[in-house]
Amino acid sequence: MKIWKHTPMDAALVALSIGQFVVMTALAFTWGQSSGPARVGGFALATLMMTYNIIIISHLFTHAAWFEARWMNSAISMLNSLNIGQSVQAYQLSHVRNHHRYNNDQKGADGTTKDRSSTFRDGEGSEHASLFRYAVLGAVSSVLGVGKILSAVHRLWKVGKHETELLEYATKVPETRARELRQVQLDRAAHFLGLCFFLAISWRWTLVCYLPAYIIALALVNVQNYYEHYGAAPGSRYTDSVSYYGRVYNLIAFNDGHHQEHHLRPQTHWSRMPAVRREHREKLDVRERIISPVPAILGFLHRDRKLLHRLQLGCGLRLQVGCGEAADLRLQVGCGKAADLRQYPDGAAHVGDD
Ligand SMILES: [Zn+2]
Repeated sequence: MKIWKHTPMDAALVALSIGQFVVMTALAFTWGQSSGPARVGGFALATLMMTYNIIIISHLFTHAAWFEARWMNSAISMLNSLNIGQSVQAYQLSHVRNHHRYNNDQKGADGTTKDRSSTFRDGEGSEHASLFRYAVLGAVSSVLGVGKILSAVHRLWKVGKHETELLEYATKVPETRARELRQVQLDRAAHFLGLCFFLAISWRWTLVCYLPAYIIALALVNVQNYYEHYGAAPGSRYTDSVSYYGRVYNLIAFNDGHHQEHHLRPQTHWSRMPAVRREHREKLDVRERIISPVPAILGFLHRDRKLLHRLQLGCGLRLQVGCGEAADLRLQVGCGKAADLRQYPDGAAHVGDD
């Protein structure tokens, strides 16, 4: 029987998922007898594990599920929904079907972005939102949303009619759609029951350690997403994100630093990201794009980062009114080759994409 859909290397991600649950349970069990420094350490560990899971483990799962068997993917989705405090299937629907479709776009003629997690969405004019607004207020809004979802015990956490975004992202093929929405419900049930389990072990740990660690983790994830796109040039899958190529980070983070490559080929398995970079090196290198000297979560240390989206503003407007010319595009995106302009089915314009 074939277990792994892509590669047995994904066993490492499964082990980390189970490991997080075991460690969190141990932290809850020992909280009452722990010393002050041990509690601080446990709090830091819980924050780190949740952040790492959202950014790396569950993120990779949303793009390329690990198992051949559907029930195994369903089970790991439920486990990680408890680990990250939200439905992994809902994460998949919004992240893959919305974020990776519109790629952190700037506002259009309707005054908003199509990518609902775009860093430009709450910004002034054509600017990014402030880091505080995106990371901190975004985390608070997420926590309130999750609280509302968990309180829907009366409908057994089924996706409600008012959850228009999820209903919009779910596929239109009836059987697959039903399966996706059912998985959201299963994930939420697992999250709810897991929280009850933690509360039963130690309500103090759940309220004093788990909950604050969860909120901080959500804010840190937002910081990561912010600097994966801050200063990049939207409109091209070769320039709309920020990569970091440090070896140690990419080793411990399953090539997560290759974010531009990830946006270029979102369905490609994490193990092939360096290959994607090699295969597209010519097109990547010829364009002006942001390469960070630090991992995205530390992006605020990259003080002299260029703001390519400002250079591209005129170009973006031209694209939207459909009167862009190759010569102008070349100048504004700093591209050395003739840029070809194509219209994608999603309605977004891309410069020089293939
Ligand atoms: Zn992604």
